[in-house]
Amino acid sequence: MTDCLFCKIINKVVDSEIVYEDDICFAFKDINPRARVHILIVPRKHISTIADMEEGDEQIIGHLVKVAKEIAEKEKCKSYKLLFNVGREAGQIIFHIHLHLMGN
Ligand code: AMP
Ligand code: ZN
Repeated sequence: MTDCLFCKIINKVVDSEIVYEDDICFAFKDINPRARVHILIVPRKHISTIADMEEGDEQIIGHLVKVAKEIAEKEKCKSYKLLFNVGREAGQIIFHIHLHLMGN
């Protein structure tokens, strides 16, 4: 998906403030933070939205949640929100799945 901003960030064609990476996912700071800690956790696999998940993708999505929990612990968040916007009307503007971690 050469035209996808988050694929470019994952491939380091576009800079980001990288927080974590492994074989399955990549995490970086949101450019427009709406909490003390606002990090996006994205799968390396380009999946446009949660609505486009295919058989087997639940393992990837579960991994994003696990990584979010670990980052929240590392960032000493007392509590936090985990959010997927699914579809334009829900506020999704980047069509590459990303889990928002917003913590204070
Ligand atoms: P969503 O509205 O769920 O699609 O969220 C997209 C998020 O991506 C927003 O919170 C933006 O602030 C964030 N964002 C957009 N461009 C960048 C970028 N280049 N680096 C980091 N975060 C970005
Ligand atoms: Zn992508």
